Amino acid sequence: MSRVFEDRAYEADSLNGCFWAEDFPGPDFSYPALQAEQSCEVAVIGAGYTGLSAALHLAEGGANVAVLDMHAPGWGASGRNGGFCCLGGAMAGDRSLRRRFGPDGLAEWDRAQSDAIDLVASLIRRHGITADIHSNGETQLAHSARSYQRLERKAERLAKTGQPVEFIATSELAAKGMQASGLLGGLTEPRGFALHPRKYVLGLAGAALSAGARVFSKAPVRRITAEGAGFRLHSTDGSITCKRLVVATNGYSRDDVPQWLRARFMPVQSNILVTRKLTDQDLAAQGWTTGQMVYDTRKLLHYFRLLPDGRMMFGMRGGIWATKAHDRKMHAMIRRDFEKMFPAWADVETPWFWTGLVCLTGKWVPYVGPVDGMDGAFAGFGWHGNGIAMGTYAGRMLARLALGQGVDIPRAMRGRPLRMPLGKHRRMLLPPIYKGLAVRDWLA
Ligand SMILES: Cc1cc2nc3c(=O)[nH]c(=O)nc-3n(C[C@H](O)[C@H](O)[C@H](O)COP(=O)(O)OP(=O)(O)OC[C@H]3O[C@@H](n4cnc5c(N)ncnc54)[C@H](O)[C@@H]3O)c2cc1C
Repeated sequence: MSRVFEDRAYEADSLNGCFWAEDFPGPDFSYPALQAEQSCEVAVIGAGYTGLSAALHLAEGGANVAVLDMHAPGWGASGRNGGFCCLGGAMAGDRSLRRRFGPDGLAEWDRAQSDAIDLVASLIRRHGITADIHSNGETQLAHSARSYQRLERKAERLAKTGQPVEFIATSELAAKGMQASGLLGGLTEPRGFALHPRKYVLGLAGAALSAGARVFSKAPVRRITAEGAGFRLHSTDGSITCKRLVVATNGYSRDDVPQWLRARFMPVQSNILVTRKLTDQDLAAQGWTTGQMVYDTRKLLHYFRLLPDGRMMFGMRGGIWATKAHDRKMHAMIRRDFEKMFPAWADVETPWFWTGLVCLTGKWVPYVGPVDGMDGAFAGFGWHGNGIAMGTYAGRMLARLALGQGVDIPRAMRGRPLRMPLGKHRRMLLPPIYKGLAVRDWLA
């Protein structure tokens, strides 16, 4: 067994219950399966934001590129996330990043996060992708008095450096249409926007195809062997040779594709439910009318936004088992939190619920760079639950690496992810960490 989670998490129907997939099934053609023996210059494993952005930029750079996905483009986290295209990508906080990479390293990381958002916006514009964009940056609301004070201090600090953040006092929430039980005021960071994650990822797939990339579905790569100066990727019904390789499998990675990845990543779940369309009366009853994307100050945070068609999307981090019983438990927990935060909607149906895998690393920062021991192979992963912008950005860096072009990888993303203890059982490290985070949230 070369995967961390139960098989169910990797099966095609783990996407069942996902609102985005029902709302936008996608183009009415299917991507071909990989059959017989094929060849390309650069192969990309994984057709999410990272792999498709890499493929698009590779094809635009003149490479003969083929993308292989074990299911289909957008099947992974990229087609089932919350749609917050925002700052982020690391779990490490600013203080830790400054200590480890210096003030310049921190500034570089901050710039990369902004540039990543800008890259998504420019790809959407350039390729005419309809992605249902809304929200002016994102707002973080405090879940406790202490967190509220911390956000107030942060707003003052950022304002002094000239950043255009807005502090929202608790007394202003009603006027902003942001009334949720247990949440106080907070901070709006104007960088970022919300999008329809599946429309964006399938738009990227379309752009990559138009640029000349080949995209294969039902093409799980089970093994990589050396072939001349390059590699052969072995799949179920065929194989493909390539001179260079990009691995873009993030939370759905296997420990043995390639072997170098073994225990260098930690998949964890995130969970989402979506309501029926809310009426104007529903919205008024709760006092939540904003189209702003919002998350709270918890470590095991909630993230939510009113979708443009009037449904509420409500997400929650946490979950490390993919059994049916655990899914039921997470479903009950997220529904309980939803009702607590939005009591006026306690009777509102939430017909959609699903989970997906995000990816952590042992250093709490993402990685983009070479795969050691495999000359010409590169990998990018570990977006810590924030991969819309950072995965897209990393895809472009990976393309440049594979094209042999110069690329400035922020130093925070350059260090090899550590191998975690306990190998394939490394999930066992998580329960105490999650318990610790829950206690911190409670004390904060
Ligand atoms: C519920 C949820 C909510 C989230 N909310 C947000 C959010 O609001 N904002 C945000 O920025 N991020 C969010 N994320 C995280 C974000 O979705 C991911 O960071 C991002 O999509 C990762 O993109 P990726 O291309 O690197 O990986 P993925 O999109 O996961 O794609 C990896 C692909 O690799 C394929 N694959 C794996 N192994 C193989 C193999 N051996 N052979 C062939 N194919 C293979 C898989 O089929 C998959 O399609 C969320 C994630 C989840 C699950």
